[in-house]
Amino acid sequence: MRERLISACYFLISWKGWVLRRALSIVQFEEMKGKTFTEVRVVEKLCEVCDKPLRTEEKTLKTIEISDYNSYSNLLTRQRAHDRVEVDLEENKIYLYHHDYPGDIHPSCIAKL
Ligand SMILES: [Zn+2]
Repeated sequence: MRERLISACYFLISWKGWVLRRALSIVQFEEMKGKTFTEVRVVEKLCEVCDKPLRTEEKTLKTIEISDYNSYSNLLTRQRAHDRVEVDLEENKIYLYHHDYPGDIHPSCIAKL
């Protein structure tokens, strides 16, 4: 439910042109067709108390070409292995998000304990 709300917010924001990253689930095949994308793995290190990111780590993985509907369909299938997947159609990048709890807490969250 929370993920859906976040996706809906991202969609509204991107529709207004403020944020370029959109959830893969709302990006159509026609928008990605014939383009080459760079896959970027993003690990969000989350706070043990509030679940919000402490920091993120990005790593470029590989490039993929969405040449036909099959390659788009494969990408949709693969997104289940990630916490969420977002696409930047301006920069031609696909962001694969993962969550991790490194055991750290925001200084402001420590104060709340
Ligand atoms: Zn926190």
